[in-house]
Amino acid sequence: MKCTRRDFARRLSLGAATGLLGLPFMASGISYTVKKGDTLGRIARRHDLSAEQLRRANQITGDLIRVGQKLHLPVNKTPRATPRSMHRVHVVQRGDTLSGIAQANRTTVSELKAANNLYSDLIRIGQPLLVPTAISAADLLTSVRAINSRVQVRANNWKGIVVHHSAIKNGNAAIYDKNHRRKGMQNGLAYHFVIGNGIDSGDGEIEIGRRWTHQLQGGHVKNHTINLTAIGICLIGNFQETRPSKLQIEAFTQLMDWLRSDVVPKAKQFAGHRELRGEQTVCPGKNFPLAAMHSRYG
Ligand SMILES: [Zn+2]
Repeated sequence: MKCTRRDFARRLSLGAATGLLGLPFMASGISYTVKKGDTLGRIARRHDLSAEQLRRANQITGDLIRVGQKLHLPVNKTPRATPRSMHRVHVVQRGDTLSGIAQANRTTVSELKAANNLYSDLIRIGQPLLVPTAISAADLLTSVRAINSRVQVRANNWKGIVVHHSAIKNGNAAIYDKNHRRKGMQNGLAYHFVIGNGIDSGDGEIEIGRRWTHQLQGGHVKNHTINLTAIGICLIGNFQETRPSKLQIEAFTQLMDWLRSDVVPKAKQFAGHRELRGEQTVCPGKNFPLAAMHSRYG
């Protein structure tokens, strides 16, 4: 669809305004030029739409279409009659990408685009984006809460949280515990929490290490002082090569939200492993949505 820059900007702001009012986005979609032999029904079927949806999107009443006519194909989804409270606003930060923001907020790039009437992946720093909030996600913290209720948390001790990837696709808390002991760490598993990817533990399963149940210092970063006060959360996988699964991100954000609000409110600092001074690592990998997590967790 061709339009001037001004039209485009106007459409964007109209889209955003519509979103705030919770109306479905009529402007999102693609355009289609009618070809010889096309019928409304056939075009609709081919694009996973109903003829009625096509009529409505193009203000057509009957079945008559002509070759060369441009039709607007709406994005097929049940109209999101999303009330304002179902969106939150994310202001684009340096390093943000649509896929990173989508991941961090448990949504998808196409949902983000639809919610903001974006026609490309281009976003700019400072741009406010409407982020649809997850409709209903399973509570991945049930067992974590149960185990934690028996832990005497040294709430004042923990000042920060560092996120890691395991840099290999296999493993679970027990396997890493063995590896770390073999490497000479007498407290075993260097992290406090491990989030599975469905290979050697459940996808999005949160395992609690002994360093958490016994409130021991971490062994997950080089700096001893940081290890004393920083909780280590490790997502299994090599995120230089693959992406964390949706459930892993879901588990990570649930764990972070819960830790920060209910368990260790003083753990205000948040970092990816590679951001710590003196570290020479890519951890948690380039595909971990670190920028988006920073905009959520500071
Ligand atoms: Zn790391």
